[in-house]
Amino acid sequence: MEHSFYLEVNREAILHNINVLRKWKRKDIIPVIKANAYGHGMLEMAKTCVQAGVTQVAVARYEEAKKILEDSYFQSLSKECSFQILIFESIGDFSLLDDFPRMDISINSLEELEKALEYHISPKKMQVKIDFSFGRNGIQEKDLPFFIKKVKEENLTFKGIFSHLFSSSYEDGLLCIKKFSSLVQEMGKERFDRIHLQNSAASYNYDCDIVTDIRVGMLTYGLQEPGYFHEELQRAFCLKGKIDSIRCVENMKYLAYEGKEDVGMKFAKWAAKIKIGYADGFGKENENGSCIIQRKEYRIAEVTMDNTFLEVDERVKVGDEVLLFYNPTKTKQETGKEIHEHLTGLTNRLPRKWIGEIK
Ligand SMILES: *Cc1c(COP(=O)(O)O)cnc(C)c1O
Repeated sequence: MEHSFYLEVNREAILHNINVLRKWKRKDIIPVIKANAYGHGMLEMAKTCVQAGVTQVAVARYEEAKKILEDSYFQSLSKECSFQILIFESIGDFSLLDDFPRMDISINSLEELEKALEYHISPKKMQVKIDFSFGRNGIQEKDLPFFIKKVKEENLTFKGIFSHLFSSSYEDGLLCIKKFSSLVQEMGKERFDRIHLQNSAASYNYDCDIVTDIRVGMLTYGLQEPGYFHEELQRAFCLKGKIDSIRCVENMKYLAYEGKEDVGMKFAKWAAKIKIGYADGFGKENENGSCIIQRKEYRIAEVTMDNTFLEVDERVKVGDEVLLFYNPTKTKQETGKEIHEHLTGLTNRLPRKWIGEIK
């Protein structure tokens, strides 16, 4: 398709980041590939994880895991290849797991543990989530004595145990690490193959001895958290396309659906059209933000459903390459939205093109 926009993803950058993250903490990594791999494309991301020798990834919902595992690449993956998908949210109906041996579930309450055991789900497919007052899901602190008792009495050994380390206050985070570590120690850490606590923000902030893995979304894609910077991580995406047409708007009253003045084009001479719009997930909040054409910044004047109009000058020609979201910090300043909010909002109409072969 001529001049069309797409999200290019550099597979080498993802592989590089996975290795940087493993070395950084000297721990294994559970890449979080929910939300279409933070917009990058979930299937290619999952395959890339297999290539990197990752044996566990995580998603939020059952439908995400199902979509990956129904793909022919995963259907034909050799049985010797260890690759499991952990689903964070409770799935409710355990029969959904019957056709998918590569799915692991989170246990988010004592009641859910009882039910799963009753249904004869192997604890080796369960990762128990503990809630140290983050309040989303997980076994609550008041239920922990019952949980510990059950685990010991029935001598249960699980696939994993995890919690959510919140880093809004540094001291509260330390307390969470302390509570989590002593809980795992009390039951015996050999009961759990995988022990994890830190997402991306918490990985910058804390080290934690007892964990086997860090559980990272953002950093895997080379997306930095505001306020932190790891210099070895590489951004993997590039949102680009080409100038589709250019019009002289000097004597025009309107630009697309709006008055020229209303989109700040009163004195502008040239408007360039590109083929991306809010139906691709490129929202109106990008108006008055910037893009890059031939290393120079230009203003995004108007976003419509299918097209976006840029205020350009005579230098710019049809077919020139246009970069959007070229600087995440700037994108945040211009639109008020973090780069991962933009990326996860990109719709299926926008193609993802991964460069670099799967080996
Ligand atoms: C999304 C998610 C993560 C990954 O978070 P990042 O901040 O992207 O690293 C980790 N753990 C859980 C439970 C999540 O839902």
